[in-house]
Amino acid sequence: MTDKLSRRDFLQASSGLILAAGTSGSVLAADGQPQAPAIAGKTAGKAPLPAARGPRVVVVGGGWSGLTVAKYLKRFDRDFDVVLIDRNALFVSCPMSNLWMADQVSMDFLTHSYIDAARNNDYLFFNATVIDLDREARRVFTEQGYIEYDYLVLAPGIDYDYARIGVEDMEEEYYIRSNYPGGYVNASEYLAIKHKLENFKGGTFLLTVPAGNYRCTAAPYERACMAAAIIKRNGVKGKVLLLDHNADIKIKKDGFRKAFETLYPDIIQYEPSADIVSVNLDDREVETEFDAYQFDDAAIYAPVRASKIIEHMGLVDPDSHQKEARVDQFTNHIIGDEHVYVTGDSRPQPFSKSGHTANSEGKFVAEVIAAHRQGQEIEWRSPQTMCFSGVKIDPLEAMNIITYYRYDKGRKTFDFDRVHLVEEWSVKSGQAGLAWAEGMFRDMFYS
Ligand SMILES: Cc1cc2nc3c(=O)[nH]c(=O)nc-3n(C[C@H](O)[C@H](O)[C@H](O)COP(=O)(O)OP(=O)(O)OC[C@H]3O[C@@H](n4cnc5c(N)ncnc54)[C@H](O)[C@@H]3O)c2cc1C
Repeated sequence: MTDKLSRRDFLQASSGLILAAGTSGSVLAADGQPQAPAIAGKTAGKAPLPAARGPRVVVVGGGWSGLTVAKYLKRFDRDFDVVLIDRNALFVSCPMSNLWMADQVSMDFLTHSYIDAARNNDYLFFNATVIDLDREARRVFTEQGYIEYDYLVLAPGIDYDYARIGVEDMEEEYYIRSNYPGGYVNASEYLAIKHKLENFKGGTFLLTVPAGNYRCTAAPYERACMAAAIIKRNGVKGKVLLLDHNADIKIKKDGFRKAFETLYPDIIQYEPSADIVSVNLDDREVETEFDAYQFDDAAIYAPVRASKIIEHMGLVDPDSHQKEARVDQFTNHIIGDEHVYVTGDSRPQPFSKSGHTANSEGKFVAEVIAAHRQGQEIEWRSPQTMCFSGVKIDPLEAMNIITYYRYDKGRKTFDFDRVHLVEEWSVKSGQAGLAWAEGMFRDMFYS
């Protein structure tokens, strides 16, 4: 188990790997620096795709946002030639992954085909990684070549920002990512966490709730409940230590508090106002401003920022603490460029970073782009956030919230509007959550 490696062992092993990679047949670029052969050859040409049969819209990121935008662009304007790009060949849902960890849904339930989505909805899917953008030439670059666009939608999601929990060193960050993954970005991470929980032999399992507008407000509290339910089911003598940066549970507060106290009183230890300032890997210890906590195993959710590709493309709002994109808040186009849009969790608006929000916003932005092509404008419409949180398993019981947003012209900010909150958990709500997810997958993958 890599958990047993000391940091020194790890660094020695990884420097060997770096050396091996550095000596493997690289070519030299004009400035004499080594350059990866695959990138050098392929990006200069056109990507291997059919020629555009209408105004081309390239959508980067096949998550909850990009899948919705791609489908609804074709709904609002049949003439659009839409290309959806994702670096992954297969879609695995983040929503419902906490329930999957506790065996309440199968991996099949989470997994869907991009090929089906594209064929059912009449667009092209391109399995590639986007690496750069030339806005003047209207070209987006992948490792397999460039694509010219009339409109570009960037929906690449989030990355972690480990520096905000005191982890500045790249190798230390790598070690934390590999051994204590956050589980909020990709399926490999949450598969690793499921294995950890299944094999947990006892002691303290650390989970964290980060600062800022992180992805899925309720998910870290739901994960604490699911982790505790697994520990309880397996009869393990262990606890979940939930260190929350916030002064209190951020959402569905009464429901989660009641769940912690009545369902898992001896298993969940909830510590609010726990602002992590450093992670000590050798001692398996995190330090907060006032305390130090030991752990036996962990999934450390670092604060989030917009995907690094947004920064690489020079599209960050300089006032955004989370390096989110500088977009017009009512249309999502880059300020000064009505041909480039940013949607989903890379957006700067303070909406909940959730799949449902990304889906309803995606429909709106597709309509905005279709209208723009016709020289028209669409009035801003609030996205909708709907979120079910499981607290109990076998049978699954959940609670839920639905909310919209309104713009406060005086304060120039968005607030919650029309909040419908049900904190009394039930089997009915558990079933409704599963039906919600099924409906969302149907919307994104079928016609
Ligand atoms: C454990 C967990 C539970 C959650 N529960 C819920 C819930 O119950 N309800 C809810 O509504 N939301 C929930 N969410 C939140 C939800 O998953 C996200 O808010 C949503 O996925 C955001 O959509 P997105 O399209 O912006 O980002 P993503 O869905 O992350 O999609 C981004 C896509 O971009 C691709 N990409 C990134 N960079 C590149 C690149 N350079 N080139 C090519 N492709 C690239 C990625 O591979 C990815 O597929 C949960 C999240 C987690 C992690």
